[in-house]
Amino acid sequence: MAPAVIDAMSAVLGNLYGNPSSVHGYGQEAKTAIDIARSGIAKLLGAEPTEITFTSGGSESINLAIRGTAAALTSSGRRHLVASAIEHEAVHQTLKALSKQGWSTTLVPVDKTGIVEPSRLAEALTEETGLVSIMHANNEIGTIQPIPELVELAHSKGAIFHTDAVQSVGKIPVNVQDLGVDLLSISGHKFNGPKGTGALWIKRGSQLQSQITGGRQERNRRAGTENVPAIIGLGAAAKLVLETGQTTRTAIVALRDRLETGILREVSGTQRNGDQNRRVGNTSSISFQGIEAEALLIALDLQNIAVSTGSACSSGSLEPSHVLRAMGFGHHRTQNSIRFSLGLGTNVDEVDRVVALLPGLVEQLRSTSNHTMPPETGRRE
Ligand code: PLP
Repeated sequence: MAPAVIDAMSAVLGNLYGNPSSVHGYGQEAKTAIDIARSGIAKLLGAEPTEITFTSGGSESINLAIRGTAAALTSSGRRHLVASAIEHEAVHQTLKALSKQGWSTTLVPVDKTGIVEPSRLAEALTEETGLVSIMHANNEIGTIQPIPELVELAHSKGAIFHTDAVQSVGKIPVNVQDLGVDLLSISGHKFNGPKGTGALWIKRGSQLQSQITGGRQERNRRAGTENVPAIIGLGAAAKLVLETGQTTRTAIVALRDRLETGILREVSGTQRNGDQNRRVGNTSSISFQGIEAEALLIALDLQNIAVSTGSACSSGSLEPSHVLRAMGFGHHRTQNSIRFSLGLGTNVDEVDRVVALLPGLVEQLRSTSNHTMPPETGRRE
């Protein structure tokens, strides 16, 4: 978390204990603080404060967007849901759950650079498509999807469009008007806010059924007493992005490029995964030929360098990355790729240390590996 976020949360943890739904002064004080945070999030997204619903994070926002829209569409006869093949599990598992309740679902493929071709979405859309959910930026390879073009296609068929912008907010400018979407999910901990916080932007007039029922909080869209300190932390993180986002982004892109070019230059048998240009600036996914990604992850961890082999939620399992698989890479490349993520606080010494350590670690793993991996051809399979 950014120091400014910690400060903002610390300042209210002991003081702002009123329930925002209470009419007394303490409650109203908490409500005012929440409203300020709501305005901050709205400003960050180019939206109206009344269009922001606070949630417990990206997964809940996504569930509310998809399940809430599906429930509202039930009587419309539109029983078809579309998503891309490289969505986060929060989208894929939600579609899977809805498919068991009678919804038909289609996953649109990506090209070998990790981009959804608009023509492929056009092929998937039918008169019965109710909702399309395609992420703004991918969490494993960072690729940015052509959302405005995809939205136009979905809207021409009368479908609602949700985008998972969890990985794009704070990393590139995100404006709901420019994107043209109807629903947009964000998560606080991806832009230096607290974990377990997020929001769903719901375009005014959208039909959506609450998934947590009870009290009338969040304009009847999400019942339950608000997590006031967390929401204030989310608001502080949004403020930071608005004030210093561009400077931070420029610095992080320079460090990411230094890391990536350093690795590709110094370590033999390495390749970048995903489009080099159409991606967010903090992510680098690299394939290391002849290496088991998990082994390299552990070797780096022993040096206090934290990397990931896929999406964090699937680490701990040896499941190959569904993102790299969807890009057409074979078994070896989906098992030998590492994701490096940089952020606020990453510095040039850390980057240079990783570049200096990697050749030796990789060499050691390759020489002790008791099986050889054939070179990855990059062909779609
Ligand atoms: N969507 C994407 C693209 C993500 O990267 C993540 C988290 O890693 C999520 C959704 C889920 O967000 P949260 O962990 O806040 O529930």
